[in-house]
Amino acid sequence: MFVGVGASRVRDLFKQAKEKSPCIIFIDEIDAIGRARGKNPNMGANDERENTLNQLLSEMDGFDTNSGVIILAATNRVDILDKALLRAGRFDRQIHVELPDLKEREEIFKVHLKPLKKIDTDLNPEFLAKQTPGFSGADIANAVNEAALIAARKDKSKVERQDFLDAIDRIIGGLEKRNKIISPAEKKTIAYHEAGHATVSWLLEHANPLVKVTIVPRGQALGAAWYLPEERQITTTEQMMDELSSLMGGRAAEEIVFNKVSTGALNDLERATKKAYAMVTYFGMSSEVGNVSYYDSTGRNEYSFTKPFSEETAVLIDKETKKIVDNAYQTALKILRENKEGHHKLAKRLLEKEVIFTDDLVEIFGERKGAQVDFKGVEEQVVDGNGNSSEDGNLDSESKEKID
Ligand code: ZN
Repeated sequence: MFVGVGASRVRDLFKQAKEKSPCIIFIDEIDAIGRARGKNPNMGANDERENTLNQLLSEMDGFDTNSGVIILAATNRVDILDKALLRAGRFDRQIHVELPDLKEREEIFKVHLKPLKKIDTDLNPEFLAKQTPGFSGADIANAVNEAALIAARKDKSKVERQDFLDAIDRIIGGLEKRNKIISPAEKKTIAYHEAGHATVSWLLEHANPLVKVTIVPRGQALGAAWYLPEERQITTTEQMMDELSSLMGGRAAEEIVFNKVSTGALNDLERATKKAYAMVTYFGMSSEVGNVSYYDSTGRNEYSFTKPFSEETAVLIDKETKKIVDNAYQTALKILRENKEGHHKLAKRLLEKEVIFTDDLVEIFGERKGAQVDFKGVEEQVVDGNGNSSEDGNLDSESKEKID
């Protein structure tokens, strides 16, 4: 791994590689030196970095196919790389590594479970893979390690299933803080807020299926509704709107029940606003702005200090974004008003049990119309890992939210 070295070290690297051929050169985080060279004089250029990059480019040109040296590089930001790097003869093959799917996660679990000395015999890697959509390989390694620590802390002789589930919960939601001081009034607000999310998402067909709702503080969040995101590649307008309404469900519940709102919805509002902006400016989902997208996938817009649209369009975008969020809020209010009884029941149950699962929602509202999490009763339970939790707290917390 090398970062920020000068041209002479690049020369030296290639010299050594040729001497030691056959060999592989691996450059991690190549965007550190491979960032697109600036064309705009106003922005100022980074001479040292550009010299390094130029040297790398010319060294790579000097290779023939049978020199026995293979060059590999890794980056998360292929969009900002200099085009010259990706030209034929240099890095001419790109391998896109996506987050692992179900089958792949199972295989990764098997790798990381191997070093654990004593694991419960009924532990099934497939089961663990199902609990961890959206996890990367590193997350899985972390979960396994965390599970071993939890088991050790409890003086267990082997790592059990529950330890893994606790570890997964911790990675998604942060550490459970049962002794955080919360006044009864606050607790009530949190319960109604979370029950609001749960009620709205349960009754909207296209929202993500709910897994559990909790009012036990975790990390920065005071409460959370956990969803299992579907492993889908495209999202429709209906799905986005329903998810937005679910996000607004917390604040809507506070307004209806207490007739006042709190700062607890900060994270919800932030996410909702970003989502709505994306709908208008990226996905062409607003009728007024139309089918235009201001998304720049190349990431090398030299003139990024100016917006690619006029002042009038900017006003329109703001208006449309507000309209989308307002609509979602109205939907949430409507659902909560129409299902007042169920919402109250749910909140009371939350105050009593602190954590509730899909079963409770089925009992109160009946079966869900949309997708459901396959849930096998409280006995077998705590089937609740997921890659997507909606968190509420006064501070913005880093949730495992993906662009959805
Ligand atoms: Zn919320």
